[in-house]
Amino acid sequence: MTNCPLRSRSITMKSKRKTIKKSGVQPIAKPLSPNFLLADLIFSDTALKKGIRNTPTKAALKNLKHLAATLEQVVELLGHPISISSGYRSKALNAAIGGSKTSQHTQGLAADFTCKNFGTPFSVCKKITNSGIRFDQLILEYGTSRKIAWVHLGVGPKKRCQVLTICTNSNFSRDGLHRYRKKQA
Ligand SMILES: [Zn+2]
Repeated sequence: MTNCPLRSRSITMKSKRKTIKKSGVQPIAKPLSPNFLLADLIFSDTALKKGIRNTPTKAALKNLKHLAATLEQVVELLGHPISISSGYRSKALNAAIGGSKTSQHTQGLAADFTCKNFGTPFSVCKKITNSGIRFDQLILEYGTSRKIAWVHLGVGPKKRCQVLTICTNSNFSRDGLHRYRKKQA
């Protein structure tokens, strides 16, 4: 994470730090909750590789705090730390990834993660489904030899508690929480 554009900016461009603070950009080491820093929820390999800016808006930052609070409940439930592969996505980053335009990731209201120490993404989804944690969407995403599975947790305001499974094609069969085909959430 040391190569993250935001972090290198805050370290190497000290003269611009005031300007950055004035513009509302938060330091990436800012804790959002006991276990999650802002950096954990904005870091992106794709953004890094493609030089895409992934700075959350003020509204997204507020949502990220709500997301982090829900992820804290997940960590407590699972009893192990989680590994986040994608949290907030700026519109440019979301487009580069090929995400849906309405993805909750663009509002800072979703995270993709795994928890290897607990078990498979399927078992993580089952555990969250059977807990009292309130969410909008819990999606078991992919899980093929080409695309390793992960958990998508959306915490949008609708709080529908939808539990879904995304498969890559209609002929693909595996354990699912609810069969659902969609390009990308
Ligand atoms: Zn996702």
